[in-house]
Amino acid sequence: MGVMRQYELVERVKSYDPAADEDALNRAYVYAMKMHGSQIRESGDPYFSHPIEVAGILTKYRLDTASIITGLLHDTIEDTPASMADIKELFGDDVAHLVDGVTKLTRIQLQSDQTKQAENFRKFVLAMSEDIRVLLVKLADRTHNMRTLHFVKSPEKRRRIALETMEIYAPLAERIGLQEIKSELEDLAFSELHTDARQSIITRLSFLREQGTALIDTVIEELRTTLENSGVIANVTGREKTPYSIWRKMQRKDVGFEQLSDIMAFRILVDNLEDCYRALGIIHSQYPMVPGRFKDYISTPKPNGYQCLHTGVIGPQRHRIEVQIRTREMHAVNELGVAAHWQYKQGHSHDGKQFRWLRELVETLDHASSPEEFLDNTRLEMYADQVFCFTPKGDLISLPSGSTPVDFAYAVHTAVGDHCVGAKVNGRIVTLRAELKNGDQVEIVTSKSQHPSQEWERFVVTAKARTRIRRFVRTQQREQYLELGRQILERAFRQAGVELSEKGLEGCLKQFKVGSADDLRAIVGEGNVSGREVVQAVYPELKDQPKADKVVPMARARTKPKPGAALPIKGLIPGMAIHFAQCCHPLPGDRIVGIVSTGKGVTVHTIDCPTLERLAEEPERWLDISWDDDTAAETHIGRVKLILTNEPSALGTLTMLIAQNNGNIVNLKIVNRSKAFFEVMVDVEVRDVRHLTNIIAALRATSVISAVERARN
Ligand code: MN
Repeated sequence: MGVMRQYELVERVKSYDPAADEDALNRAYVYAMKMHGSQIRESGDPYFSHPIEVAGILTKYRLDTASIITGLLHDTIEDTPASMADIKELFGDDVAHLVDGVTKLTRIQLQSDQTKQAENFRKFVLAMSEDIRVLLVKLADRTHNMRTLHFVKSPEKRRRIALETMEIYAPLAERIGLQEIKSELEDLAFSELHTDARQSIITRLSFLREQGTALIDTVIEELRTTLENSGVIANVTGREKTPYSIWRKMQRKDVGFEQLSDIMAFRILVDNLEDCYRALGIIHSQYPMVPGRFKDYISTPKPNGYQCLHTGVIGPQRHRIEVQIRTREMHAVNELGVAAHWQYKQGHSHDGKQFRWLRELVETLDHASSPEEFLDNTRLEMYADQVFCFTPKGDLISLPSGSTPVDFAYAVHTAVGDHCVGAKVNGRIVTLRAELKNGDQVEIVTSKSQHPSQEWERFVVTAKARTRIRRFVRTQQREQYLELGRQILERAFRQAGVELSEKGLEGCLKQFKVGSADDLRAIVGEGNVSGREVVQAVYPELKDQPKADKVVPMARARTKPKPGAALPIKGLIPGMAIHFAQCCHPLPGDRIVGIVSTGKGVTVHTIDCPTLERLAEEPERWLDISWDDDTAAETHIGRVKLILTNEPSALGTLTMLIAQNNGNIVNLKIVNRSKAFFEVMVDVEVRDVRHLTNIIAALRATSVISAVERARN
């Protein structure tokens, strides 16, 4: 097969677009040939014949110069040394953008076990296309690849491509109104996927033809004269249905070929709309109608713009036939899409607006309004609010736009979401709050010890993720309050010198309006009821004892607490039942005190925190607590205030020294600045107070820092 020559291609484009950029077309043709060089297709043809054929298919749809050039260049990024930057430089942004889009689509591959997700894949392809021209080039590419599919040696590869064509590209061609391409793709895919079925249908059809049962010409002639006698001039054509449409009907109705009577379809083309309905009336008055076969797609066009009258009759010589009636314009639109529609309206004017149909097509797709259209998902922009991402195995996950790796993880499986600690997007580590983009491949890193965090709720987008996180946090919170409540009660009873028993607690449930001893512990942990109140409820005789003395924080700071008296913050997750005060940033190793706050559990302060002065009047809220080894294993925020000399290297020295001492700066704020000095506040992640002290010592040793101290509000 001869390859279309350079001048032939240019002439074809010029024939419908005299303003086409001839020079760019020529350069693209030569560039494609040069880049693909001596590459050979499996058919034995030089590789560059493929992009040239694709460009040829696109001229049939009268596409603009950029689309034709994209057809020529569509495989250069994937298969040749050409780069995106080269294409941009040589052919401009528009072409580069289109080539990039087609290249991305080429990288999407449907695996045979994903056909259940075909609808998602179709949406994905539409979303990735962005510009409708990307999809048109891709469809032309696929059409040529299907025409030459039989040359591909690997049966698995042939099958995959055919399946993908059947599931993804043929339906997409139909959606944008390219009936002809749709039928061709379907038939080529059918021939690969069901070779035997197709062959037996073809054999059967030719047998019927020999038998004289399929008298297409006879029927055409009778229909034509019948119409003419009633004053309607029509062009009548007839055809056997395609093997694929016959096969599909056999599958759908679960019938054998013999029972399938209407294997012939006839098309009546008339000049105008009135003649469509007149022709219909004539056919219906002449031949018995087959019930349930009449459809008026003229008054109610299909979502893709398809217009036609369909009916079934017992026609000439009692053959059951299918009849389609439409105007010539409708016919052109049905076969070639909105392209033809526009050309009809504009005639062959060359006012530079020939490509308006592209915009019109997008508009048609955009303004779908009936529920049927909506369900048909015809619109391109509909997918602007979705992102489509892949698992490492290639499964497609569809998410609302703005979704994060956490949403992705929950969409894969709740267990994956619950335990995710990190994510890799396209092989790179990203934060859990990173926004996912179309086509991202996402790998979730999980750890058994990880649990959903309250923080996640702030950035997740999907309802599933949010619900799971909330539920987990609520359960976790109750467990935390329960644990804290148990420890508070144990201590309160011990201090009062009375026995704490399950029976004792159960005896006073009514008084606190709770249903169980655990509920009671939870409200104590939450800070809604104090340990002392519970002691007095169980032992009413202790009620008259005097209240505890006013607490003197500074005095307490000087006396060491008795070992064992303090309540260790054991098994308590910071941020839930226990919070670290933002005023003093307590660190493991600091002497600390807990303040019970109603409904919030316990807030931990350093014992010398000035905030405590205000709380001296409420001793019942004070709780002796101590660090626990588990808590110390986590990192904490230490705040440092320092005075820095105003010189170029000062800030660099500061950050370097902190890093050298294994401190991680999480926040840095310049509080005051003068000509000579900066006052800076730094939050550093540290293990404990000793770690922070080491950092402060290191900072004191440098000359650029004139003063350092741990910050206290
Ligand atoms: Mn290609």
